[in-house]
Amino acid sequence: MFAKILEYPSDFMRLFYPRLCGGCDVPLAKGEQHLCLHCRLELPFTNFETMKDNPVERIFYGRVPLHFATSLLYFSKGEKVQNILHNIKYNERKELAIFMGKLIGKRLQNNPYLSDVNVIMPVPLHKNKQHLRGYNQSELITEGINEVLNLQQSINNLVRTAFTSTQTNKSRIERWENVEQVFNIKHPNALEDKHILLVDDVLTTGATLEACAETLLSNNRCKVSIVTLAYAAI
Ligand SMILES: [Zn+2]
Repeated sequence: MFAKILEYPSDFMRLFYPRLCGGCDVPLAKGEQHLCLHCRLELPFTNFETMKDNPVERIFYGRVPLHFATSLLYFSKGEKVQNILHNIKYNERKELAIFMGKLIGKRLQNNPYLSDVNVIMPVPLHKNKQHLRGYNQSELITEGINEVLNLQQSINNLVRTAFTSTQTNKSRIERWENVEQVFNIKHPNALEDKHILLVDDVLTTGATLEACAETLLSNNRCKVSIVTLAYAAI
């Protein structure tokens, strides 16, 4: 009997650890992966990847000269995208991060604004923070994107050099000061003349991404574009 059960390890594991939807936390049905059918059909896609001068690009106007910027999904509090982000960031749903990255990758395939991108790079965490969490969620999203786009992946070249505390209770200006100039490039030559696609989980004020992009642009003859999994209009 026991041997029979073990022939089906995934079913067996499910008895004790039901796989939950990353969006609504209900147990997934057979055949569903990462998200239930309902959540999958109701993902709030922005479709910004099809538009120049989209709301994500506008966030960076006058701040840093990006080539293109977009986000896959709208974020709103209490909704499934917030839960997906929470599961990715705090509940070790690494496979969910990679799956969401693949969704981004499929949407960016053959995108005219990104046709010459050759390097993909996650926004780095400070190494202490990554050590605490055990992984960088943006790196996992990057991996998922790159399973589709197959670009040169740059993981350790851009480094975060200051530890930023949690940002939720700070004003926009404080948040900006908190992350200003805390990124460095270890090997600038490797990024010369590249079009870099910078990846993060969620875009709010854009301060972190701005600081990253500025660092990249100040050191190299490169172009920078940005993609995030979610966009929180503020
Ligand atoms: Zn669901």
